[in-house]
Amino acid sequence: MIKVLVTGAYGRMGREAAKTVLGAADMVLAGVVDSQGAGLDIGQVIGCGSTGIIIENDLDEFLKRVHPDVAVEFTAPQAVFRDTLKYLEHGVRPVIGTTGLDAGQINEIIDLSEKNGVGGLIAPNFAIGAILMMRFAAEAVRFLPNVEIIEMHHDQKIDSPSGTAIKTAEIISEQMGDDNQHGLNAEIETLPGARGVKYDGGIRIHSVRLPGLVAHQEVILGGLGQTLTIRHDTINRESFMPGLLLAIRRSINLERVVYGLEKLLFESA
Ligand code: NAP
Repeated sequence: MIKVLVTGAYGRMGREAAKTVLGAADMVLAGVVDSQGAGLDIGQVIGCGSTGIIIENDLDEFLKRVHPDVAVEFTAPQAVFRDTLKYLEHGVRPVIGTTGLDAGQINEIIDLSEKNGVGGLIAPNFAIGAILMMRFAAEAVRFLPNVEIIEMHHDQKIDSPSGTAIKTAEIISEQMGDDNQHGLNAEIETLPGARGVKYDGGIRIHSVRLPGLVAHQEVILGGLGQTLTIRHDTINRESFMPGLLLAIRRSINLERVVYGLEKLLFESA
C-alpha cells in the first residue's frame, strides 16, 4: 500500500485528489494538510462520510510525526517551492500539481532530489489529453513553425501564464530549433500586452481568465493560407485523476524528481 499525504486537501484539486486516493485499492490516505479547514474530517468535506482523517494545518509537524511514501501537493504558487524542499528533506516523494514554480526552482528541486535519492514528479498538467496536445503541437511545429498559445482558465487561478502553457512553449521551442517566428519586426502595441507575453523571447502566450472556464488551451499554428488549431478542454477536475494516480504509482520507482507527466508516459524516466 502506498501511503499518500495530500497537501492543499481543502482546495478544489486537493479534495478531488483526496477522494481519488481514498478510492484507490493500492493506496492509503496517510494525512491531509491545508491552511483552511483544520479539524474537519476530510470525508465530510468531500461528501463520503466520516473517515477519521482530520485536516491538519502544520506541514512541519505532520512530517515529523508521519512518514508518507508520497506527498501530493495542490496548494498555491507561494507555498509550493518551500513545501517541496521539505518533502525532499524528509525523504518523501513529491508529486507536485501546484503551478507557478519557475525554471530556477524546478532545477533546484531536481538537484536536491538527485542528491537525496528521492524520486517524484512536477506536473503542470495531469490530464493525459493535455499531454497529447503538447506532443501533437511539438510535431506540428516542425512543419508550421509560426505558433501562438492561448490558455484559458477560471477566474480564481492565481498564476499566469499557466504552467501548462509554459511547458507547451518549452516543448515546442525544443522542436523549433533556430526557426524563428515570422511576422513584423517592429510591432506597435497601442495597449501594452496586447500581443501577449513571449516565452524565452519567442513563442507568444495569451492568458484568458473568466468565470465559467475550467482549464483550456489552444495551440494555433499558421502557414500560407492555412491555420491548424490543436485544442484541449478540461471539462472537470476528474480529468486530472488518472494522470495523478499514474504519477503516484510511478514515483515510487523514480530516483529523482522529473518535470512533466510526458516523461512518464513516453520516456523511461
Ligand atoms: P484552491 O482551491 O485555492 O486550493 C488550494 C488550497 O491550498 C487552499 O485551501 C489553500 O488555502 C491551500 N494552501 C495554500 N497554501 C498552503 C500551504 N502553504 N499549506 C497548506 N495549504 C495551503 O486551488 P486549486 O484550484 O485546488 O489549485 C491548486 C493548484 O493546483 C494551483 O496551483 C493550480 O494551478 C494547480 N492545478 C494543477 C493541475 C495539474 O494538473 N497539475 C490542475 C488544476 C490545478 P488558502 O485559501 O488559505 O490559500
